[in-house]
Amino acid sequence: MGGDLILMGPPGVGKGTQAKALARANGWLHLSTGDLFRDHIRRQTDVGRRVKGILDAGAYVPDDLTVDMVRDRLATTPADQRIVFDGFPRTAAQADALDDLLAERGRRVEAVLLLEAPREELRARLEGRAKAEGRTDDTPEVIANRLDVYERETRPLVAHYEAKGLTRRIDGVGPVEAVTERLRDAADRHEVRS
Ligand code: AMP
Repeated sequence: MGGDLILMGPPGVGKGTQAKALARANGWLHLSTGDLFRDHIRRQTDVGRRVKGILDAGAYVPDDLTVDMVRDRLATTPADQRIVFDGFPRTAAQADALDDLLAERGRRVEAVLLLEAPREELRARLEGRAKAEGRTDDTPEVIANRLDVYERETRPLVAHYEAKGLTRRIDGVGPVEAVTERLRDAADRHEVRS
C-alpha cells in the first residue's frame, strides 16, 4: 500500500481547497486539524473552549493538544484508508510525533506537497477573504501574524522532509483548477495516487 500525503503551505495559499479536491478525487481521507478544531469550537467541547482564543489570534494550538487530537482521529482510521494531512504537522515536534504515530500503525509519509505563493499575494488573498466573509477577527495584524508564525514555526519543516527526499514544490499561483492539476501531476510523479 502507498503511504500518506502531507499538503503543506502558508496561510492563504489554498491548502484546504486543494486538499479537499485531492482527497475527493482519490478516495482519501482529508485530515485537517483546522477543521477538527473548528468543529470542537462549534460543538463547544472542552478542547473547543481551550482553542477558540488561539485560533482567533492566528497563533498555534499547543503541540500536545494537537497531537492528541490527531492520535484520536488515526485510531478510528482503517489501515487501508490513505490520508492527506492538511495543516498538520506545523512544528518540528508535531512532525516527529507524526512519524511515531504513523510507524505505530504501519503507516508512513509518502510525499510532502509544498504549495507556494509570494507573501504579498498571500496577504492580499487573506485580506480579501476576511472582507468577503465579514471576519472581523482577521485584521491586517492577525493576518501578518499568521504569515510570520508560518515562516518561523512551519517553514523549517520543509528541510526536515527535503532531507528525506519527500518534498515536491508546487506553484500555488493561478486559477484553482490549474493548481489542482499541478498537484495531481506532482502526486502522480510520486506514484502516490491509488
Ligand atoms: P487552518 O484551517 O489549517 O488554517 O487552521 C486554522 C487554525 O487552527 C490555525 O491558525 C491554528 O490556530 C490552528 N491549527 C490548525 N492546525 C494546527 C496545528 N497543526 N498546530 C497548531 N495549531 C493548528
